[in-house]
Amino acid sequence: MIQRILVTGGAGFLGSHLCERLVSDGHDVICLDNFFTSQKTNVAHLLGKPNFELIRHDITLPIHLEVDQIYNMACPAAPGHYQFNPIKTIKTSVMGSINMLGIAKRCGARILQASTSEVYGDPEQHPQKESYRGSVNPIGIRACYDEGKRVAETLFMDYHRSNNVDVRIVRIFNTYGPRMHPFDGRVVANFIRQAMAGDDITIYGDGSQTRSFCYRDDLVEVIMRMMNCDDFTGPVNIGNPHEFTIRQLAEKTIELTNSSSKLVESPLPADDPTRRRPDISLAKVKLDWEPKIELDEGLKHTIDWFKTINLADYRPPTP
Ligand code: NAD
Ligand code: UDP
Repeated sequence: MIQRILVTGGAGFLGSHLCERLVSDGHDVICLDNFFTSQKTNVAHLLGKPNFELIRHDITLPIHLEVDQIYNMACPAAPGHYQFNPIKTIKTSVMGSINMLGIAKRCGARILQASTSEVYGDPEQHPQKESYRGSVNPIGIRACYDEGKRVAETLFMDYHRSNNVDVRIVRIFNTYGPRMHPFDGRVVANFIRQAMAGDDITIYGDGSQTRSFCYRDDLVEVIMRMMNCDDFTGPVNIGNPHEFTIRQLAEKTIELTNSSSKLVESPLPADDPTRRRPDISLAKVKLDWEPKIELDEGLKHTIDWFKTINLADYRPPTP
């Protein structure tokens, strides 16, 4: 059935792919974004479509819209982006969620929250299951993001219990792919840019910390499955369970770019999680999903995309 769908953060890396999929499925899509960490060019190709609409708006402020579904994707996701204005980051998660939950309540719309593996903080349990309650430093430099997303989950569940709002919560693990911001400061973008330029690859710490990297197509597919699953609110972990050290990622990137770059160590940022890998058993059972694109293939697509862009077209976050 054709739905009226609001995607907040719809011009961002994941949001723009989601908009693309929803538009091609024939839905009536409203993309709402303040372009804090994204470019209008991410959705420029959708602008002429009769079932696509772009609104410049900040979700910390109320807005009146009539919709059937809401994907709440708006929030800076990279540490360098969310630490740029930490108070704004918390407001986006908390006030933004309240505003979007208000629309969902009034319209009877289903609403999905893009939560994060960061709700687990620097986890003592490995791999991370949804039942794990996490280990977040509430006063650290990552807290504006981690705690903001934790409060957002609380708000979603309280609107669900108190007001019967139809909610969905996905906990997204590290995701990469074409259209990621090349200067977001995250590891995949940094390593590809550095390797392509022949610059030193900056390993923070000794590179033994791990992450599990999911390609964006796998991720967008499961987000849509979760939205359209009728009997399950989540939270559910979504990500690729194959775990790599940061040093392995650097070596892979050098190999795939035929680069002569050298690895150099620099200080590890505060509160940097040591290990991260999703347990995706729940997503397998409830959503019949597991990722299909492994790191080598996904990195190749991403490197190919980096070859096509002009880095000068990308700007840092703007307040
Ligand atoms: P992104 O930065 O590319 O996209 C976020 C979008 O939200 C941007 O277009 C930005 O301009 C917009 N935005 C930020 N604050 C806003 C505000 N106050 N009002 C309106 N728009 C605002 O990041 P992404 O990687 O596409 O992440 C999308 C969502 O998924 C985020 O909520 C993020 O926390 C979550 N997530 C992403 C990852 C990942 O690895 N990419 C991991 C976990 C969770
Ligand atoms: N990292 C790194 N070099 C970089 C950027 C990041 O070694 O140039 C490390 C970072 O310290 C962390 C991991 O890579 O351990 C993933 O960092 P990212 O910022 O991509 O995402 P996070 O999962 O920490 O939010």
